[in-house]
Amino acid sequence: MKRYSVFALAREAMRHQKGWERAWRSPQPKPRYDVVIVGAGGHGLATAYYLGRNFGVRNVAVIEKGWLGGGNSGRNTTIIRSNYLQDPSSAIFEKARKLYETLSQDLNYNVMFSPRGVMMLAQTPHEMRGYLRTVQANRLQSVETEWIGPERVKSLVPIMNIEGPRYPVLGALWQPRGGTARHDAVNWGYARACSAMGMDIIQQCEVTAIRSANGQVTGVETTKGRIDCGKLGIVVAGHSGVLAEMAGFRLPIESLALQALVSEPIKPVLDTVVMANTVHGYISQSDKGELVIGGGTDGFVNYAQRGSFQHVEETVRALIETFPIISRLRMMRQWAGIVDMTGDRSPILSATPLGNCFVNCGWGTGGFKAIPGSGWAMAELIHKGAPGPLAAEFGLDRFREGRFIDESVAAGVAH
Ligand SMILES: Cc1cc2nc3c(=O)[nH]c(=O)nc-3n(C[C@H](O)[C@H](O)[C@H](O)COP(=O)(O)OP(=O)(O)OC[C@H]3O[C@@H](n4cnc5c(N)ncnc54)[C@H](O)[C@@H]3O)c2cc1C
Repeated sequence: MKRYSVFALAREAMRHQKGWERAWRSPQPKPRYDVVIVGAGGHGLATAYYLGRNFGVRNVAVIEKGWLGGGNSGRNTTIIRSNYLQDPSSAIFEKARKLYETLSQDLNYNVMFSPRGVMMLAQTPHEMRGYLRTVQANRLQSVETEWIGPERVKSLVPIMNIEGPRYPVLGALWQPRGGTARHDAVNWGYARACSAMGMDIIQQCEVTAIRSANGQVTGVETTKGRIDCGKLGIVVAGHSGVLAEMAGFRLPIESLALQALVSEPIKPVLDTVVMANTVHGYISQSDKGELVIGGGTDGFVNYAQRGSFQHVEETVRALIETFPIISRLRMMRQWAGIVDMTGDRSPILSATPLGNCFVNCGWGTGGFKAIPGSGWAMAELIHKGAPGPLAAEFGLDRFREGRFIDESVAAGVAH
């Protein structure tokens, strides 16, 4: 694979851009791989990448029923932060955030990581107490966050109305090195690096059955035929329950539509990410100038990648009090993904009842930010057959043992 560089840009400019190669190969599946990963979202691709990079395992296939990055990893609002309350969460999200800092160099692909700062607004005294507690927890976890007052909030985001009649801004939990990255570029960068290591990314290939014998997976049936494997990783987000059923076990996952929308592009007005959890909306401005707006999940279980119209209305209505300029903007596009929610709103990185089958899911509404850390931990889990320190607390057994990692009610944050 030819490296991308300023010299490559200059060379191609001289020869009418005719020398670029395809970023990744599109091979037919081989009969057998050492490891098969189902799902070419960010988590599946990152798992494959770190299997190759950290452990030298390269006879790997990533199987995708649609196009790579076509699931949630290409549909999210790209917020990256690690200011979680519980220790296991902040450890894996901070690992991911740190990997994001150098991901463009590591992958030789510009993922447009933009550490523009993430603020989580406190709009009730209860929320304020919660975030003050999170700042203390983050200090103990060596995660850099601080509490900022309303004046600082206003100076960072001048378009904000901090004196809203219903929900005045009392301050914010501020993570200066949080931010965004370009979601497609993250998927494409990992895919290109995997392909360059000789791994096969097989798109338009749906897994329809999982074959097993004597408590071990032997392979998968797909729309492109049977593929045998030594180990299987299931990394399919909202379809995790479907794949688990094929493998003969159940997961504590509910699948829900989560949607986002963008406004028409406008001049730069917002250079941080703002999350407003009380009114339930979050907002940032893309490089193209669109305001990128996300809301909550639909209130019912479903697999429809659309989202309902009343949710668009609820989200925009919620944000208008705090960002009055939104009321003048036209909304251009709306879309949804199917997110995989656990009861404690924490992910599952785990062995399963089948000895050589591993599952990575449950990232729900907040897994884009985790992609590098999750791939790192999942690769270790698959390679060694047991979790390393990052994944140790996220096993399936925590639901049986009541060892929840509560990032919802206790942390007071929806995403
Ligand atoms: C609207 C929205 C906004 C979001 N905003 C944020 C945010 O700001 N910050 C953040 O951190 N997170 C956010 N998220 C969550 C984040 O996008 C997800 O947690 C993350 O992308 C999950 O990645 P994944 O690789 O596990 O799943 P996916 O990217 O969904 O990939 C799973 C893949 O598996 C494939 N698959 C399923 N079944 C099969 C099968 N039988 N055979 C083969 N392939 C199969 C699917 O086609 C899919 O491509 C948001 C999500 C949505 C929907």
